[in-house]
Amino acid sequence: MTTKLFNTAIAGSLPKPAWLSETNKLWPQWKAEGNELIQAKADATLLWIKAQEDAGLDVIGDGEQSRQHFVHGFLEQVDGIDFAHKVKMGIRNNRYDAMVPQVVSTLKLKGRVHATEAKLLRAHTARKIKFTLPGPMTIVDTVSDQFYGDKIAMAMAFAELLNQEALALQADGVDIIQFDEPAFNVYMKEAADWGVRALEVAARGLTCTTAVHICYGYGIKANDDWKKTLGDQWRQYEEVLPALATSSIDQVSLECYQSHVPPHLMALLAGKDVMVGVIDVASDVIETPEQILETIGRALEYVPKNRLIPCTNCGLAPMSREIAIQKLNALGLGAALARERYA
Ligand code: ZN
Repeated sequence: MTTKLFNTAIAGSLPKPAWLSETNKLWPQWKAEGNELIQAKADATLLWIKAQEDAGLDVIGDGEQSRQHFVHGFLEQVDGIDFAHKVKMGIRNNRYDAMVPQVVSTLKLKGRVHATEAKLLRAHTARKIKFTLPGPMTIVDTVSDQFYGDKIAMAMAFAELLNQEALALQADGVDIIQFDEPAFNVYMKEAADWGVRALEVAARGLTCTTAVHICYGYGIKANDDWKKTLGDQWRQYEEVLPALATSSIDQVSLECYQSHVPPHLMALLAGKDVMVGVIDVASDVIETPEQILETIGRALEYVPKNRLIPCTNCGLAPMSREIAIQKLNALGLGAALARERYA
């Protein structure tokens, strides 16, 4: 038996249907409440499971349909955080402003965070399932601290809570737990100094596959403007990947297609599985299978074929649902073409 090459996955988020929440927004308002909202989230999750399976993807996610935002969805289940009094804060090194909750006392989980979605996912697909959680450093960059007074101490406190939920997700049958750390690409030195260490605390004791996603952000204007300032070669990964290469994390998700990341930086991840971004989330243009094949071909110069996972550059949350479905289909077709070529 030969192992299937180029197993496909998405980075994490998918657009929410118009009946669940506002669309094309990073922090959309829900359109229902109470039990009706719970049911609507589950319905949306089911339709995205189906869409991912129909596209031929190998690793299935919940599309983050049950959380308003990838960071705040987790924080809503944490005691010690004041959501009633959000404050405006510049995040990702002041790249854009966000309304963020405040940390006001010792952090503690209120209970399970994502049990419902994980169990739903496990019950409705026989394929591998991946669950995403925000990474400690990115959480720290998306809340206002009025209590710890020390970034690293607060990151480690969040890492303990993430670890608690991650272990429970593993027990729910999740195959891959991914931590999202876009902040690694912004605070590279701190990421290498303590961000990776905090990540390993979050992943401590997990026997399932562990992953980290590091990106240049969603396809929103603030990120597009930022990317224009980064020059011809985006070398942020160069400072962080060596620390990840020696870490306990199994897989690393990176941007590739339409980015200015020099592909040779992927060589810094020897020994890791690499989720290579072959789908651009900052453009509505649908990738052709040939374009995806070409991106995979370029990555294969630095990543062994049995370690290459074609993926999206980032989440698709702020995109239109129709475009996202076409992008998922493109990902499936491109990977199939690569399997034929490199079998
Ligand atoms: Zn991302």
